[in-house]
Amino acid sequence: MSTRVVVLGAGFGGLELSSFLSEKLGDSLDLTLIDKNDSFMFGFSKLDIMFGRQNPDAVRLYYRDIVKPGVRFRQETITSIDPEKRMVITDGGTYQADILVIALGADYDPAYTPGLQEGGNEFYSIAGATRLRDVLPTFTKGRAIIGITSTPFKCPPAPSETALLLHDFLTARGVRQDCEISVVMPFGIPIPPSPATSQGILSAFAERNIIYVPDRLVRALDPARKVVILDNQQEMPYDLFLGIPKHCVPAVVAESGLTEDGWIPVNTKTLKTRFPGVYAIGDVNSVGTPKAGVFAEGAARTVAADILAQVQGSGETPAYRGIGACYIEFGGERVGRVEVEFLAGPPTGTFTEPSQSLMAEKDAFGATRRARWFGKS
Ligand SMILES: Cc1cc2nc3c(=O)[nH]c(=O)nc-3n(C[C@H](O)[C@H](O)[C@H](O)COP(=O)(O)OP(=O)(O)OC[C@H]3O[C@@H](n4cnc5c(N)ncnc54)[C@H](O)[C@@H]3O)c2cc1C
Repeated sequence: MSTRVVVLGAGFGGLELSSFLSEKLGDSLDLTLIDKNDSFMFGFSKLDIMFGRQNPDAVRLYYRDIVKPGVRFRQETITSIDPEKRMVITDGGTYQADILVIALGADYDPAYTPGLQEGGNEFYSIAGATRLRDVLPTFTKGRAIIGITSTPFKCPPAPSETALLLHDFLTARGVRQDCEISVVMPFGIPIPPSPATSQGILSAFAERNIIYVPDRLVRALDPARKVVILDNQQEMPYDLFLGIPKHCVPAVVAESGLTEDGWIPVNTKTLKTRFPGVYAIGDVNSVGTPKAGVFAEGAARTVAADILAQVQGSGETPAYRGIGACYIEFGGERVGRVEVEFLAGPPTGTFTEPSQSLMAEKDAFGATRRARWFGKS
């Protein structure tokens, strides 16, 4: 009987892991991939949606298009995970795994920040980004604040990208001079592992009159007084608040007994949890890399290689190194790139200056995943 692999979550991590194993094992693979949604969307597509550059429907990639030897996709909601027995219950059935991979990502808890839902906006969910597509054109004067409410949060460059794209958006509409843009970040510099990238972003902010508020989180909004309250009690007046809500594991993960301090701890070299045969990859774990798709993808490849070695009875799998390259939108059709390594020692990063050719490289990044995971050109 072949090894039963069950993968929970068809995001960056689950899709890459399934594709890798299918490519190597073909029909001898027995893999079930489960997700509650009917489609996947890249995180960066949410910026395209909020600034009106793309329609949500145009950037959805449907799971029904997955045709991979040895892979069965099930659109079901996972309601219980028993890591000891490697048993999973969904609204459609029960799954017993020999190897269980948890790739369920991070959810949001906007209610954690008082006033955020009543008086602010978030752009990290598809619904939030879609709402903002209609809100942003109505903002023609006043103070815009982009703020983080809690750490960790997905894609640390995204708030800075949002500020730069908002600058372009307001400039194109002829109202930039009537608006102020501030970014409230919990770090001293925008991308701590890469001072060169941070300098690039801070210079771009300075050129565009974007205010950077370092080392602060947004604790609350007071919509009646139109102020944002920071974690040092300082108040900032606002007219438009674009927030990054508190992140947390999905409820089914929290209830599974797998988490410590809110996330799933794993061996940093193997991505194994403390339960035999159970791995956790991507945003759902606390391995020490940022919460970003490229890291989820790298972790998926490490785990897939380990599963392959077990199935084929072959040698050691190289340790996970936490390497990833993120593209950063600077506006004006230019994209920069930061490449970071997290787990081989103190995190280090290298920066490639923004250019139009990197914009093309970012497009190619999306296109290769669309082709590899969904067979789409
Ligand atoms: C605005 C924004 C911009 C971003 N830009 C970038 C970028 O440029 N580069 C980059 O690398 N990353 C970027 N990211 C981050 C990236 O999207 C995530 O880090 C990445 O998707 C994490 O991959 P994952 O596989 O861990 O989880 P996800 O991709 O989130 O997948 C988790 C899956 O689990 C499913 N799921 C959850 N609970 C259940 C349940 N109970 N039952 C069934 N299914 C369930 C979900 O439906 C989801 O499909 C960005 C994120 C945002 C919000």
